Amino acid sequence: MGFNIAVDGPAGAGKSTIARLVAGKLGLIYVDTGAMYRAITVFLLREKVDLSDEKAVADKCGEADITIRYREDEQVVILNGENVNRLLRTEEVSRLTSVVSAQPAVREKLRSLQIRLAAESDCIMDGRDIGTCVLPNADVKIYLTASSAVRAKRRYAEQCARGIACDLGQIQKDIEERDYRDMHREVAPLVQAPDAVLVDTSEMTIEEVAQHIISLCGGYCKAEGLSGKD
Ligand code: C5P
Repeated sequence: MGFNIAVDGPAGAGKSTIARLVAGKLGLIYVDTGAMYRAITVFLLREKVDLSDEKAVADKCGEADITIRYREDEQVVILNGENVNRLLRTEEVSRLTSVVSAQPAVREKLRSLQIRLAAESDCIMDGRDIGTCVLPNADVKIYLTASSAVRAKRRYAEQCARGIACDLGQIQKDIEERDYRDMHREVAPLVQAPDAVLVDTSEMTIEEVAQHIISLCGGYCKAEGLSGKD
């Protein structure tokens, strides 16, 4: 078992930005588990499966072979031999992934893959159930959050910067609906693990959050001879 940091939290809290930054500073692999759920969603949409039909989803998801590769430190999700990264971030896939991820067969399949990845390398893994279900013995657990208004504003700014027309109110509504589904599903709902450190990023810069997390990894930084400073 390597050194593992688990980061959970609601949509738009900054998990992937922070996890990527901390991974770079500490020399860890960054494992984005949301991308795996998104890839299965792309597969089921292509196969025109009724996403709320538990049996149909369970039967079909066995045909989805998901593997993870790393290219220049970037996680590449391979779905049945195809790099699907460019298909994962649409609003439709974001919305429907929280429906697909409630399905027990999907969770079981991806959980095994995630456990294997964490056993193979020192990593920081982000998602919704990492500290509670996937890596309950993680060395450091973080629950990253921010108000839904702040998270919506960040997502709005990101979309505007990419030249994508969007509506702030609609983004906030989508985020809140997604959080509700993720927090209220029966299997592995989003919840703060009792031993996770709560970090509210509403009033913090990205750099401040990253330094805070690195300070919680003190033992690891010392063992690896890392200052965790730049
Ligand atoms: O993190 P990201 O926003 O990419 O995740 C997309 C969706 O995947 C979440 O809304 C959630 O439904 C699902 N997910 C999950 N468990 C994880 C990671 C993501 O259920 N560990």
